[in-house]
Amino acid sequence: MATSLSQRPQLRYLADQIEELKKKGTHFRLRVLEDAQAPVCHYDGRQVINLASNNYLGLCNHPKLKEAAEKATRELGVGPGAVRTIAGTMKIHMELEEKIARFKNVEACVVFQSGFTANAGTVSAILGKEDFIISDELNHASIIDGARLSRAKIKVFRHKDLAHAEELLREVQNEPGHKLLITDGVFSMDGDIGPVDKLADLAEKYGAIMMVDDAHASGVLGRNGRGTVDHFHCHGRVDIQVGTLSKAIGAIGGYVCGSKDLIDFLYHRARPFLFSTSHPPSVTATCMAAFDLLESEPERIDRLWQNTRYFKTELGRLGFDIGGVTTPASETPITPIIVGEGRRAMDFSRALFEAGVMATGIAFPTVPEGKARIRTIMTSEHTREQLDQALEILEKTAKGMRILG
Ligand SMILES: *Cc1c(COP(=O)(O)O)cnc(C)c1O
Repeated sequence: MATSLSQRPQLRYLADQIEELKKKGTHFRLRVLEDAQAPVCHYDGRQVINLASNNYLGLCNHPKLKEAAEKATRELGVGPGAVRTIAGTMKIHMELEEKIARFKNVEACVVFQSGFTANAGTVSAILGKEDFIISDELNHASIIDGARLSRAKIKVFRHKDLAHAEELLREVQNEPGHKLLITDGVFSMDGDIGPVDKLADLAEKYGAIMMVDDAHASGVLGRNGRGTVDHFHCHGRVDIQVGTLSKAIGAIGGYVCGSKDLIDFLYHRARPFLFSTSHPPSVTATCMAAFDLLESEPERIDRLWQNTRYFKTELGRLGFDIGGVTTPASETPITPIIVGEGRRAMDFSRALFEAGVMATGIAFPTVPEGKARIRTIMTSEHTREQLDQALEILEKTAKGMRILG
């Protein structure tokens, strides 16, 4: 038996907080996936239709990616053995960065261990306490953490509110510091798209650095999944593009694209790059194979969007509140079903799971109080039969809980 530490008083306050979560009905246990990530798979011993993953293009378990990982492991081993700046930069790391830079049509790229470290490491490296960050209120936690670590002054604009963003830029325009205007390309909780083109206009007008976090847009939006900059025809107008290798690309990692100078600077100053070991060759090779697939099998992205349009239309037709006031807010494969109270969203998620659908419940503080929801995410690999079955389960369960009338 493991040594028990639970009787010691030091961390008792954490147990008290967990009790609070349990009382509010928002405590969860991790669901455990027992096979590979797929449209139908097994969590906690139950077969479910999976509407919860970010495996947009079904690449998590793709034979060509697995083959690339195996080959790289056989030839190059399982780990790089050092951080990038000491002795851990392998040829394959440089090849992936060059490949991504070409794909994104930018001068240079640096790969990080995750999208989280890419954002946090970049924002905290390029700004200091004299500088300003003008940030959408719904930007990802990794941007917020990077902003805090930078010690720059943080000004938050109302979600996608261009007039408010401009007001904040105007407030600081005569201050000496650098200004960073930053948005998610796709917002992960509502599935709506950031107004990258219009923000780029503002950034130019006020001389701000423009940065986009394209985690949910990588492999999803733009030609062959090139992201929001391509979607909005903003090439050459966004100084810093962050993408993830953990979602549509199917593996793990994050990258930053921009000028040669930006990337060279990050090699010298981004702390996760300097102080944490780089990817094993298997991960890097997997990502190379994934970018090849984006170019050679664009029909995956077409299927993703066909499924997205179908599922969203059907959810609306059934009468679900899928966010937005007049039109659905979501424009992407992410569609929320707004339930309201946190406990109710969690109960809905649990009932769906029992009925055979995996859709994550999301409550405060991840989304505002009163806007708790379950979130659904499409992939290219869901069949029409699976989607129809999921819709039937959603309708029946929601009616049973009086979420639908
Ligand atoms: C998922 C996500 C990240 C983090 O990406 P990882 O590669 O999983 O670390 C960053 N930003 C946004 C908007 C995300 O949705």
